[in-house]
Amino acid sequence: MMEEALTLLDGRVKTLNTLLIESSLSLKDAGLETPRLDAEVLICRALGMSRETFWRDPHREIDAADLSRCEAWVCRRERREPLAYILEEREFWSRRFRVTRDVLIPRPESELIIERLLENIGPEARQRPLKGLDLCTGSGALAVVAALELPRARITGVDVSSAALEIANENGRYHGVDVRLRWVRCDLLNGLELEEAAPESFDFILCNPPYLGESDMQALQPEIARFEPAEALDGGPDGTRFYPEIIKTAARWLKPAGLLLMEMGCEQGSAVRSLLETSRRFTEVAVIQDYTGRDRLVSARMSKGD
Ligand code: GLN
Repeated sequence: MMEEALTLLDGRVKTLNTLLIESSLSLKDAGLETPRLDAEVLICRALGMSRETFWRDPHREIDAADLSRCEAWVCRRERREPLAYILEEREFWSRRFRVTRDVLIPRPESELIIERLLENIGPEARQRPLKGLDLCTGSGALAVVAALELPRARITGVDVSSAALEIANENGRYHGVDVRLRWVRCDLLNGLELEEAAPESFDFILCNPPYLGESDMQALQPEIARFEPAEALDGGPDGTRFYPEIIKTAARWLKPAGLLLMEMGCEQGSAVRSLLETSRRFTEVAVIQDYTGRDRLVSARMSKGD
């Protein structure tokens, strides 16, 4: 360690280990919570090696091209760019998704939407040719996972951003479900129009809308504030701007008894619940907690009609 630290200082040779030490220190100075882990992941990925390979021979010298690639990535992380954007991928539902700065990085708590969806549908009905809508699809993670878990389902993903839809489309192709996916660019606030579907024809609607309020937006960590698309996060003054429109859209497009699952902020449960109840189109309204015990989802069923 001492010897390597000295080599590091006089800058003659750089081994994997000296690079790791140096990078961890600079990420620590940048205020990261897990500097050492981030440095190790970035270096291994920049060099295309597993962590096992790295640790098999940590004293191996690095050539100049490899070194500058590693340093460039560490430098991006130092400026607080999220790991997922640097690596251009994130795992969701144990699957790999491509992400760029055009899309929100999928969060683990959103997996709850898929869990609830599958639970509601039940094992037998999963084989049916169901029709689903994913509003504010972003990277397409929810739409793609729904298509993977429901092998005959057809899913339409909607987003206001065409750059996001390109990423979603790439993710659908990567997972081999693109034939059952369709992408539609649309601003929900102007109402959803779909050419190839009739109203009341969807079995389920999923949605992870922007739901951060003004004070949440101001308190964001630099990774999110500086790099993630604000339009995927900002839900207006109290964060609930999109729910009335989503509920209207769901009331129009869901089949009788169809399922609506929406993610929301942990303080929005009663507001979203009362929007659903006053619309008088939904039953079985339930607020569901995430694994940290905070309110995170609202689920509701479209009324059966008259
Ligand atoms: N859960 C996200 C966050 O913590 C917010 C996601 C959203 O607005 N849809 O930043």
